[in-house]
Amino acid sequence: MAAFEQLAFGFGDEPSVGVAVAAPSVVVTTDGRKASEATAVHRTPLPSVQPGAFTPTAADAGTPRSTSTSTSADPPSPVAHPQASRDILLSGQRVRYAFRRGKRRTIGFVVGPEGLSVSAPRWVGLQEVEAALLEKGSWILRKLQEQGERNRRLKAARIVWADGAVLPYLGREVTLVLDAAGLSAPGAAVLDAETAELRLSLPADAQAERIRDVVHSWWQRQAKRLFEERCALYAQRLGVRLSKLSLSSAQTRWGSATADGAVRLNWRLIQFPLSTIDYVVVHELAHLREMNHSAAFWDVVRSVLPSFETAQAPLKQAVPLGD
Ligand SMILES: [Zn+2]
Repeated sequence: MAAFEQLAFGFGDEPSVGVAVAAPSVVVTTDGRKASEATAVHRTPLPSVQPGAFTPTAADAGTPRSTSTSTSADPPSPVAHPQASRDILLSGQRVRYAFRRGKRRTIGFVVGPEGLSVSAPRWVGLQEVEAALLEKGSWILRKLQEQGERNRRLKAARIVWADGAVLPYLGREVTLVLDAAGLSAPGAAVLDAETAELRLSLPADAQAERIRDVVHSWWQRQAKRLFEERCALYAQRLGVRLSKLSLSSAQTRWGSATADGAVRLNWRLIQFPLSTIDYVVVHELAHLREMNHSAAFWDVVRSVLPSFETAQAPLKQAVPLGD
């Protein structure tokens, strides 16, 4: 299990569930398919915050995204849940939380994008609920802070689909240039590696959805080409046979592998550095030798990627883009 949690990308920020009063802890979920993983299928989970594209954080990306970020208001702070009905002072910090009575047998704490939700059995008094909150105050505050950081990253990474937008590609940034006259076919996309400009054959006033679709197709074409190349390289190094490679747009995982040699990779990985893409490629291919997350599995990964832990980092910080 410890080895598996290394792969539970992003779940450190996920809501905890079903926590007993005495011992709150984050329950790391996969995608509800643990049973099949033990037999033939492995799936690498994505952060499950909301659908969209994924990008390294602005902090990783180098230049600021000021030209492309949304101008909407700051995300609400998770210390005040929008459905809050009660509040409590935790280490001097006022936390407003949503509270409900449930059929559960224990008091449950969940820290999600909106803030803290608490549910308790009908027979547990409010004093007891507050005592539990106070007891786990530092854990709750830490989770709220992490959630707030995640919300800010989400906002910073939101793409406005227009001329000048800054997009992630292979861990770097490319700037979108709408140029209806410059390219032949309408909707064509060409990356100028020197200027880091992605030129789209679209008029300057093209609709956001149209621009997004063209960029998504371009990302997917690059993903297909690159993933095929990296899979071929590492399949040879690992001595495994890849029967089929397909792109996925799953909202809940980066990749998966089945015992018959079929590998699926999320095309949004194309936004990450090559080292990170290689890590996911190797992770899935290594499952063709070890369909588990045993020490032997990690030895297989390490045999071709000795520093794979570093390559995992961008995935752990990934935030979904509203697309
Ligand atoms: Zn795995």
